[in-house]
Amino acid sequence: MSEEKTAGQILEEKLLSKSRHPSMSDPSLEGEANGFCEGYKAFLRWKTEREAVEGTVSMLRERGYSEFAPGTAYPPGSKIYMENRGKALIMATVGKRPVADGLRIGVSHIDSPRLDFKPNPLFEDSEMAYFKTHYYGGIKKYQWTAIPLSLHGVVALADGERIRVRIGEEEGDPVFCVTDLLPHLAQNQMKKTASEVVEGEQLNILIGCAPYRDEKVSAKVKLNVMRLLNDRYGISERDFLSAELCAVPAFRPADVGLDGSMVGAYGQDDSVCAYASLMAEIEARDPEFTTVTVFADKEETGSDGNTGMRSLFFRDFVEDFASAYGLQARHVLKKSVCLSCDVNAAVDPAFGDVFERGNCSFLGRGPVVSKYTGSRGKYSTNDASAETMGFIRGILDGAGIPWQAGELGKVDIGGGGTIASEISVHNLDTVDIGVPVLSMHSPMEITSKTDVYLLYRAVSAFYSSAAEKD
Ligand code: MN
Ligand code: MN
Repeated sequence: MSEEKTAGQILEEKLLSKSRHPSMSDPSLEGEANGFCEGYKAFLRWKTEREAVEGTVSMLRERGYSEFAPGTAYPPGSKIYMENRGKALIMATVGKRPVADGLRIGVSHIDSPRLDFKPNPLFEDSEMAYFKTHYYGGIKKYQWTAIPLSLHGVVALADGERIRVRIGEEEGDPVFCVTDLLPHLAQNQMKKTASEVVEGEQLNILIGCAPYRDEKVSAKVKLNVMRLLNDRYGISERDFLSAELCAVPAFRPADVGLDGSMVGAYGQDDSVCAYASLMAEIEARDPEFTTVTVFADKEETGSDGNTGMRSLFFRDFVEDFASAYGLQARHVLKKSVCLSCDVNAAVDPAFGDVFERGNCSFLGRGPVVSKYTGSRGKYSTNDASAETMGFIRGILDGAGIPWQAGELGKVDIGGGGTIASEISVHNLDTVDIGVPVLSMHSPMEITSKTDVYLLYRAVSAFYSSAAEKD
């Protein structure tokens, strides 16, 4: 027999909020999350924005999506997509309500930190051949040494032909590596600050050490490597000038922990949100409002460029889509709501001093909603209004989805932004939501399967909700 609750306990339940692991009150959650994350791990094998777009488009086509044709007034239930240069993607399901009532938008990014090749990457030193790199996005450079790397990208030939490169992902493929100094000789290196322990110009990828056997040739190893690339792809050294190649961790996505409760993989920032919103988009059937799901490129370098969220491609799509119904984009966007889906920092007890535990997110407690991001005095932040927060809260609570609220870390310790500020510029009510991540931007990021699945449920609830704004 349970003891009777005291007046204080009753008041506490009524007035104070308490967070607990969502599976404590929902025993079926763990199994559902595990099942959902099998598909997620398959999605994570696409490690660049180009691979994510290509793979997603083929999924969309299999599921009845057709390429968006500007000027068409699509009937409710129609599923369409628009690709931008093979690096960004917009998908939509036309709702039952008039487009004039606004859209329900979910935006995430599909680029992740990595080592991009320089335009003239190939060189030989000490009878070893290397590719020179220029890192892309915010990385701790020392984390990228002494781990297996795979090569990805495209080479565009002068005659217009495009050659796809992907080495190091399949069984039997070779992998590549950036070397590090042995501890025995690292006395001086170990005294350096972490940002200088390995410097940008030391991030050279080792690709071979076998010579081309001809005494008359000076750079024998380099020539041998170029010969192998020519055999495989038909390219010569000059073709690197019109290429986009990069190295990423070659690890396969894996279950982490004895309980298998987590996913460990490269690129979960922000493939986790991309996959969750993609599944919500695909499963949207006759939604009340038109859903629009966006995969953006270039978030990790500031959203610039014509495939980044600062590009007008999103605005142009809304303009083209709305004009077929006799509407203007600005009127539709003003009535719309957007979830900016991106990861957040999970509290890590090993580095507990950077987190303010009352306002940070915890692994396993569900998706994290952030009213604002940014740094210092809320610089470069979207800062969702109380009304918009209330609107989203109503949808999540109404659908019984556990979630948490949090910001990145302690106020003066650093900070970071998302594409929420690039989206809200369209006079669009926007809220940040995402999955807490451990070891963000490292070669092996960690997420909780429960959080991944609950983010999908959250975006689904948002897409299927009939709730009206204001
Ligand atoms: Mn991100
Ligand atoms: Mn990031």
